[in-house]
Amino acid sequence: MIVVLREGATKEQIKKVEHKLLELGFKTHPIYGEFKTVIGAIGDKRNINKNLILSMEGVEEIVPIMLPYKLASRELYKNPTVIDVGGVKIGGDEIVVMAGPCAIEGEAEFIEVAQAVKKSGAKILRGGAYKPRSSPYSFQGLEEEGLKIMSAARAATGLKLVTEVVDTRDVEIVDQYTDILQIGARNMQNFRLLKEVGNGKKPVLLKRGLAATITEWLMAAEYIMSEGNEKVILCERGIRTYETSTRNTMDISAIPVIKGASHLPIVADPSHGTGHTKYVPSMARAAVAAGADGLIVEVHQDPPNAMSDGEQSLTPAEFDRVMKEVSKIAQAVGRSI
Ligand code: PEP
Ligand code: MN
Repeated sequence: MIVVLREGATKEQIKKVEHKLLELGFKTHPIYGEFKTVIGAIGDKRNINKNLILSMEGVEEIVPIMLPYKLASRELYKNPTVIDVGGVKIGGDEIVVMAGPCAIEGEAEFIEVAQAVKKSGAKILRGGAYKPRSSPYSFQGLEEEGLKIMSAARAATGLKLVTEVVDTRDVEIVDQYTDILQIGARNMQNFRLLKEVGNGKKPVLLKRGLAATITEWLMAAEYIMSEGNEKVILCERGIRTYETSTRNTMDISAIPVIKGASHLPIVADPSHGTGHTKYVPSMARAAVAAGADGLIVEVHQDPPNAMSDGEQSLTPAEFDRVMKEVSKIAQAVGRSI
């Protein structure tokens, strides 16, 4: 529920109300607006006698949050959240592009592709060190060695890093190296893993599950946020449908739906969203036109020989072209890249 304080409520009154809510077992989230302060109170409503709070000085009203997700909802936070990743702001006017190979294969190649995507305007470098592969016989990633390579690429380029964590046992080590922790589609409802990254401080890129509804996806965000880490970036990466022409069906409409339902930033992944290099440029443009705050794109120097997801990867030259096209779309919708 949301406790709305009267305009002009004093700091002392606000503190007393928050204190009372804490005493009643709620987690509190004060939001200080220009005129009014509201306190999001998350917890078991049965514990509360509403009149007790309503009778406190400075309290105007109590508004229930109807949606099952609370902290992720726009009912609580009216303004869009901007997540600062070491100076790179996700969710503001600028479209932030994350790019790099599906998997880290070796240091020299990774640094080369990092330099190329940086030159084209990417701000964040992607690469998988722990890979959730559909087959146990496929390349599973370089693990810690891959993280060290990422770190070297960050030192060489200044790009921020995003990489996936697939297991609760790896959260600590991945957290030490990366700037954003990625939760992959296959783990979107791995609640233990969500709680684990929710206990950390690093932003989390939460990919939509293979067959997850938007509500289920926002509930997964709620798991992370309710542990204390509210820095969640959503990522639409296509969902499983009956259509087989593309690897997944890229749900462009999820972008405006999320924008209406949540204050969290959303980026789009046209690589996994389509599964085919040739469809990536158009879906990248469409996502930005639809209001995405950023893109995450797979780029590889030699896609036919990539160890993972080559069929959906762009070459650095193709990526450069996409960036130029996307930049025009960004301008058309009042944003920049
Ligand atoms: C990836 O980003 O390489 C990946 C495995 O993504 P997803 O979890 O969306 O399949
Ligand atoms: Mn991939």
